[in-house]
Amino acid sequence: MYTVKRDIMLREQIEKRGVRDERVLKVIGKVPRHLFVPEEIRDKSYEDYPLPIGENQTISQPYIVALMTELLSLKGGEKVLEIGTGSGYQAAILAELSREVYSVEIIDSLARKSEKLLRSLGYKNVFILSGDGYLGWREHSPYDSIIVTCAPEAIPQDLIDQLKEGGRMVIPVGSMYQDLKVVVKSGGKVKISDNIPVRFVPMVRDR
Ligand code: SAH
Repeated sequence: MYTVKRDIMLREQIEKRGVRDERVLKVIGKVPRHLFVPEEIRDKSYEDYPLPIGENQTISQPYIVALMTELLSLKGGEKVLEIGTGSGYQAAILAELSREVYSVEIIDSLARKSEKLLRSLGYKNVFILSGDGYLGWREHSPYDSIIVTCAPEAIPQDLIDQLKEGGRMVIPVGSMYQDLKVVVKSGGKVKISDNIPVRFVPMVRDR
């Protein structure tokens, strides 16, 4: 039943809106998104909107996950940093498409729950840190790719610093509504381009 729903989601929500990267499409069609959604609302897993995952947080809309992943242009050998592990769904998608994923989550209970789920699904290349994403994860830097799935009001300098030369960051920036930005570091300079308007939960300061 979920396989059928996932195929329809892929066609109607993701391909129709223009996501073309074959590797991304294949992985979205494969990863069991419903396992990252709370049991009570599992039947809604493949609907065209974000869903609550507890602690006032959400798993992003499928299309946004696909779009942000496509914007990273992953080829398979990358070391990726994610800020905002949440349910762990985006981390699973990244793990399928890159070499290693380092994901930082500020809510400890979510970090532990996602870590457990990802392990149980057999992902051995995802590492989760319970901590403040404004600081990135310096120990494993620099990263080929950085994806931020909560919204800061400005691009955190630590994340720019931890991006490799030639690397790429996808990040929603703003308060109530945000612009999805693509940041490319090349020749020691940072180039920023705007993509679509999006709505993410705020990137909070450490409490
Ligand atoms: N990528 C997630 C969606 C995450 S929702 C998924 O696939 O399900 C955004 C997440 O960012 C929430 O879990 C929230 O707790 C986390 N977050 C907010 N501020 C943060 C910060 N400063 N550092 C790390 N994580 C943060």
